[in-house]
Parts: sequence; structure tokens; C-alpha cells
Amino acid sequence: DINGILVQLPLPKHLDDKAVIEAINPLKDVDAFHAVNVGKIMLGEYDFLPCTPAGVMEMLHYYNIEVSGKNCVVIGRSNIVGKPMGMLLLHENGTVTICHSRTKNLAEVCSRADILVAAVGKPKFVTADMVKEGAVVIDVGMDRDENGKLCGDVDFENVKDKCSYITPVPGGVGPMTIATLMKNTVKAAKIQNNL
Ligand code: NAP
Repeated sequence: DINGILVQLPLPKHLDDKAVIEAINPLKDVDAFHAVNVGKIMLGEYDFLPCTPAGVMEMLHYYNIEVSGKNCVVIGRSNIVGKPMGMLLLHENGTVTICHSRTKNLAEVCSRADILVAAVGKPKFVTADMVKEGAVVIDVGMDRDENGKLCGDVDFENVKDKCSYITPVPGGVGPMTIATLMKNTVKAAKIQNNL
């Protein structure tokens, strides 16, 4: 009766994320967190892609933004966003740098990016000096500003005039994640029913 299962992370501390994810049948793992699906993504032979990075790729395709040969910088290396995001950009022949809290000269690394993906979880973390003129900026962040208002990882107001494309928060990556989840669920149902 159930075709797709998504574990909304993070789980409460007393629950073991890994054990919960590994308990899902990989064919129903519509956010591609199970080790089998993670491995398939590494190999480039997958049934499902994690919803958030896949939604980002869908946006790039929709707007005909070429990835091949571009300098792609991803800030964040989580299993659910940063790592798979880097892998998908690599599969499309981007030259990928994945940054994290130990990265040195982050602003300088980011300012070389043709495509910059922010998945840090810190409000307005990416400032205008970190963005190259004409860059494509994808903001995955879902944060709260000092007034408790939803905002992204990018300082949108100060960055928007510098880049060629930028995703807003809310209304950017978030809805794409949900749409991709639906797409993956339909695909899962088809696979399970040999359609
Ligand atoms: P996470 O697991 O907390 O990972 C954050 C990453 O940012 C880590 O790799 C961390 O580095 C890095 N980081 C933290 N501080 C940094 C700094 N000062 N400089 C450079 N890198 C730094 O978060 P996540 O689950 O990937 O989520 C990231 C953001 O995306 C959050 O705001 C989340 O709410 C949002 N999100 C949105 C969607 C959507 O559909 N729109 C989906 C998922 C997540 P270390 O690894 O070194 O600690």
C-alpha cells in the first residue's frame, strides 16, 4: 500500500537515524538516503536522487544553465544536500569544490564560482563579496533571521544585483524539493509495479 517513505531529518536524539534509514526498502527510499541508493548515485546509475539536489539540477536544466566546465562551489557537505549536490554537478561535468566549516579562505573560493550552491544553515551567510559578477546562486538554506522571519543562507538583497540568477527563499529550492519528492514517489510506484 505504501510506495514511498521519506524520513524527515533530523530525528529526535534518542532515535538512530542510520538504523531508521537502513530499515527502508531501497525501492521505496524516495529521498535516496539508503546506503544502496547513495552508492548507486556515486556510480551514476540510480533510480532515485535525493529530492533537494535533484530539484536544484531540475532548475538548472529548466533555465538552460550549462554546468559542464563551470566552476561549481557547494558550501556544506551534509549527506542530504552538500555531498549529493556536489556529485550531481560532477556527473554533469562541473569542476566541483565542496566547502565546509574547516575550509580556508571560503570567501575567496566562493568568489571563483560560476555556480554557487549554499547549504550551510546560517542566515544570510553568503555576502556580496563572496559572489562573482554574473554567477548563478542557488540558496538551499531555510533559516530564520533576527526577527524570526524565514530567510536563506544568502544575503539576497545585497547579492541579487551581482548575479545572473538567484533563487529566493521562500519560493526557490523548497518547492522544487517537494515536486521532486512527488516525482520520485510516482517513479517508485512504477518500479514496484513493473510499469
Ligand atoms: P547541516 O547538516 O547542518 O550541514 C551544514 C553544512 O554547512 C556542514 O557541512 C557544515 O560544515 C557547513 N558549515 C557550517 N558552518 C560553516 C561555515 N562557517 N563555513 C563553511 N561551512 C560551514 O545542514 P543541511 O541539512 O545540509 O542543511 C543546510 C541548509 O539547507 C539548512 O538551512 C536546511 O534547513 C536547508 N535545507 C533546505 C531544504 C529545502 O528543501 N530547501 C532541504 C534540506 C535542507 P561541517 O560539515 O564542517 O560541520
